[in-house]
Amino acid sequence: MGEITIAVDGPGSSGKGTVARRVATALGYQFVDTGAMYRTVGLYCLRDGVDVRDEAGATAVARGLRFHFAFRDGALRVEADGVDVTDAIRAEAVGLAASAVAVHPGVRGALLGLQRALGAGGGVVMDGRDIGTVILPDAELKVYLDASADERARRRWLQHPEQDFATVREELVARDAQDAGRATAPLRCADDAVRIDSTGLGIDEVVARIVALAHQRRGG
Ligand code: C5P
Repeated sequence: MGEITIAVDGPGSSGKGTVARRVATALGYQFVDTGAMYRTVGLYCLRDGVDVRDEAGATAVARGLRFHFAFRDGALRVEADGVDVTDAIRAEAVGLAASAVAVHPGVRGALLGLQRALGAGGGVVMDGRDIGTVILPDAELKVYLDASADERARRRWLQHPEQDFATVREELVARDAQDAGRATAPLRCADDAVRIDSTGLGIDEVVARIVALAHQRRGG
C-alpha cells in the first residue's frame, strides 16, 4: 500500500495539533488543521458582527470563505480570502466562537466538501473532532488523542500564562462539553480508532507511536 490517510481527533489541548503536524512531517505527508477552518469562520463572524448563534449568518460566512494553506519558513500559514489569519485565529475568544459556530449543520456542511477533498488520495494527516467519524470514515489509521482535563488545562495555560488558571480550565471544559454534546458530528472516539491518553507522555513518544502505527497500516 502507498500513502495512507490518518485521522487525529480529540478534545481541546490534547496535543493533537502539534502531534498531527509532527507525524505529517515525519512521514512526508500533508497536514490539514480543520479546527483552523472553524476558527476562521468564528473570527470572521466576530469581525463582521455576525451573531455566532445565527446559523444562516454563520453559514453564509463559511460558504463565502476561500481557504489557502501554505508553508512559509517551515510553518503552516492559514489564509482566508488572501488574508493571513494564522495568528488571529489562536485567540481564546476565537476558539470559543469556533466552537459556537461548529454546532450549526450549515457551517459543517459548508466545510465538509473541502475537508474531504483535502483528505482524498492519501498522504494526509487531518486533525479535528469528527475526522474519523464523519469526514474520513475510511481512513486507514484513526487516532483519538486524549489527556486529563487538568493536564490539558495546564498545557493551555502555559500558552496563555497571563490568564487565571481556573478560568482557563473552566472554558476548556465548557468547550469540550459543547463539542461532545452537539447533535451534528459531536466529538467522539470512532469505534475503530486507537485511543492514546497523553497524560504523562511526552510529545516525542506520542508521535513515535503514531508513526509506528502508520508504518504497520501501510504494510511496512
Ligand atoms: O482544534 P481547535 O481547538 O482549533 O478547534 C476549534 C473548534 O472548532 C473546536 O472547539 C470545535 O468546536 C471546532 N471543530 C469541529 N470539528 C473539527 C475541528 C474543530 O467542530 N473537525
